[in-house]
Amino acid sequence: MTAELHDLSLVALAKQLRAKKVSATETAQHFLKRAQAHARLGAFLAQDEAVTLAQARAADARLAAGDTAPLLGVPLAHKDIFVTTDFPTTAGSKMLDGYRSPFDSTVVSIFKGCGAVSLGKLNCDEFAMGSGNENSAFGGVKNPWDVSRVPGGSSGGSAAAVAARLAPGVTGTDTGGSIRQPASFCGITGIKPTYGRASRYGMVAFASSLDQAGPMARSAEDCALLLSAMCGPDLDRDSTSLDVPAEDFSRSLDGDLKGLRIGLPKEFFAEGVAPDVRAAVDQALKVYEGLGATLVPISLPRTELSIPVYYIIAPAEASSNLSRFDGVKFGHRAQSHGDLIDMYKKTRAEGFGDEVKRRIMIGAYVLSHGYYDAYYLQAQKIRRMIADDFQQAFTQCDVIAGPVAPTVAWKLGEKSSDPLANYLADIFTLPASLAGLPGMSVPAGLGAGGMPVGLQLIGNYLQEARLLNVAHRLQQATDWHTAKPAGI
Ligand code: GLN
Repeated sequence: MTAELHDLSLVALAKQLRAKKVSATETAQHFLKRAQAHARLGAFLAQDEAVTLAQARAADARLAAGDTAPLLGVPLAHKDIFVTTDFPTTAGSKMLDGYRSPFDSTVVSIFKGCGAVSLGKLNCDEFAMGSGNENSAFGGVKNPWDVSRVPGGSSGGSAAAVAARLAPGVTGTDTGGSIRQPASFCGITGIKPTYGRASRYGMVAFASSLDQAGPMARSAEDCALLLSAMCGPDLDRDSTSLDVPAEDFSRSLDGDLKGLRIGLPKEFFAEGVAPDVRAAVDQALKVYEGLGATLVPISLPRTELSIPVYYIIAPAEASSNLSRFDGVKFGHRAQSHGDLIDMYKKTRAEGFGDEVKRRIMIGAYVLSHGYYDAYYLQAQKIRRMIADDFQQAFTQCDVIAGPVAPTVAWKLGEKSSDPLANYLADIFTLPASLAGLPGMSVPAGLGAGGMPVGLQLIGNYLQEARLLNVAHRLQQATDWHTAKPAGI
């Protein structure tokens, strides 16, 4: 029995646990062993067997008492951006090495309350800044499909863990694509909900007007179960939390797609998209046509501008958010220093990696007197226009589809010394982030080098149920989401 536990879907595993066919403790032990066996992927930053097994025993006690909570005993793991009392939290940065939060983030405490069992914390780019997980201060993560390639980023550990069957579901965060792009690169399913639907409380802040939590798992059905738990108002603790009630996304998965209008932005199908990615996306769109959907040509004319706009706004917010890491309040402090100013300087010079420093400098520059109007204010205006373009598009279609990224996962090291090349690869995920719209990545087959390709689906505000429905129907009609890397 236990040999196949990791191959069960999250939904199936939850059922087995409720039916007491397997215990939460056996399940946790199985996944802890698997993580050890695949340690060289670098997916986990922290695990603690005693903590995990204690949570599993508590779940078993609840199961024995007849509790039927849907996630009871299900093993999950969290991106190391969510603060946790049970494990250290680093945000992938030396600055927070050894940091232990005195409280749990809302997302983590929700899952704890549901009786899910935490397997530990997952590697990510430093402060979630990156597209390949190579900016982590604790080493890169390898893509389970080809260990010479990146898993995507910044939720690279999360995506790799699901693809390698080290956890049936995980959390990630998406500021400019960090759930969708690694999901695409690792052949799994991920959804970033509407900005404000999941609480940001206890997520180490990168760019607060963009940061959003979401689940990653192998299928839309599994994501629906996790997202149903994650979403909901947290008005007292997150000022941008939406006052929209939680929803059971698992109920609307089977909706018929007849008459669904899928918008194809011409800018997402232009030059620059690799032919293998294009072919996979086209293949998925054909399936949708077979399911009764119609494909509608649309335009998102400011797609290209989303890159400069995002790379002004996100660093601006980051430069402010990261000012708290000064060696006084928490985190790393330089061992030897002169006066207070010197202590700040040395602490930040030692604690932050290159990409983080680069963004703090860009952010401070675009917010500075004399440049604010030319850069930051201008970017804010275009951000609004990008959001308006989507509203115009949604008068013509119900969901928008296209590639998640222009290529499949690149080789480790290939882009690590070229920040601009990384930024440009975010072109298709940034627009939905800037508009605050929900977006998904759904496996759409394999491209060059046998690497997975993701189809991106973007919905209008609060249309998570529809996105999951559209993704689920594709997964009922195809088996791309069940493909697994060799040797896993
Ligand atoms: N790749 C983008 C960046 O580097 C997005 C990261 C994210 O979504 N956290 O900022």
